[in-house]
Amino acid sequence: MSDRPLLVERMEPFRSSIFAEMSALAVATGAINLGQGFPDTDGPTQVVEAAVAALRAGHNQYPPGAGIPDLRAAVARHQRRHYGIEVDPDTSVQITMGASEALVAAILALCGPGDEVVVFEPYFDLYAAAVALAGATLRTVTLRAPEYGFDPDEFRAAIGERTRLVLVNSPHNPTGHVFGSEECAVIADACVDADVLVLTDEVYEHLTFDGVRHVPLATLPGMAERTLTVSSAGKTFSVTGWKVGWVSGPPELVAAVRAVKQHLTYSGGTPFQFAIAHALELPDEVVAGVRSSLQHQRDLLCDGLAAIGLDVVRPSGTYFVTVDVAPLGVSDGVDFCRTLPERVGVVAVPVQVFFGDPEDGRTLVRFAFCKRPEVISEAADRLRRLVDG
Ligand code: PMP
Ligand code: GLN
Repeated sequence: MSDRPLLVERMEPFRSSIFAEMSALAVATGAINLGQGFPDTDGPTQVVEAAVAALRAGHNQYPPGAGIPDLRAAVARHQRRHYGIEVDPDTSVQITMGASEALVAAILALCGPGDEVVVFEPYFDLYAAAVALAGATLRTVTLRAPEYGFDPDEFRAAIGERTRLVLVNSPHNPTGHVFGSEECAVIADACVDADVLVLTDEVYEHLTFDGVRHVPLATLPGMAERTLTVSSAGKTFSVTGWKVGWVSGPPELVAAVRAVKQHLTYSGGTPFQFAIAHALELPDEVVAGVRSSLQHQRDLLCDGLAAIGLDVVRPSGTYFVTVDVAPLGVSDGVDFCRTLPERVGVVAVPVQVFFGDPEDGRTLVRFAFCKRPEVISEAADRLRRLVDG
């Protein structure tokens, strides 16, 4: 064999995901895992039972490439019921293997070498990897602690001749920031003015707190015709391992994503598609239950972090709170997170790896609160040892 490296050069920076590293550390040390974002309880019983029923009913072969008709219809109804967005279930909805596949397929379908993708940082790690896979270039606009808003001028300046796509994630992982109407209007106006495509990652759309409501960018003037909206059942119904996601938008954009998606996995997860078709039709109280438990867990964790002297801005959405750990005498979040399990038995995620320039997030650390209250309380007690000695 030649000396040529096996992994293509553009993927070299993405060899190992921080989530895999930190979850492995949690297993190896037996620490409480507040790193990777997955709940430690099952989703609503009705949803789990619907999957069991689908398995027993023999829904175990390939679903249609676009996804089962029932689920596409349920997604279309969901968009209408919650946001007044009209999408045709046949031409404007594509079911995917989680939001991950929808995002990667969309980026591969729309972007190539020479194209720029504008994204807010810190960003979910998959975005940078997918942009690199496409051979395109990432251009970042920084969300600044502690509120994690952005500078409108900086955002407008980031969009230029080469911008092919603006990728927005709200509610935002890892900061928990939910973009408000004014922020969405700034984003929409700039995208319409520059006539660029938009990809929105709304996987935490239903996980917002204190009455804050998620604003889908596709609902703003001039946006529906240029926006692909991605979501997933994993977070809404606490079934992250099921990987049932979807993308909706104008038929020509969805057709482009479908063209790529069919060569990634073609299709899959048949019984789970049936279960999520059922889940999306359940009364709103089911998801309200998930949301209010999560809000309580958020408060427990935020109180615990504030109790050790950290400046905590309570996130309005997602599974996560991101804090600056510098007041604990920390100068590097990666070192802090690598040693935290040994020191006090808790795993967290360093946020610097979600920045173009790690310097910008050197001491930011993300903690997940999608865990049972007793687990969060125990983690908070353990974190106290950082200051109590
Ligand atoms: N986007 C964001 C912001 C996420 O946090 C996640 C969670 N892993 C995903 C996309 C991927 O979702 P899925 O598990 O449905 O692929
Ligand atoms: N979305 C999850 C998180 O941010 C993890 C997903 C993954 O492991 N890729 O923690």
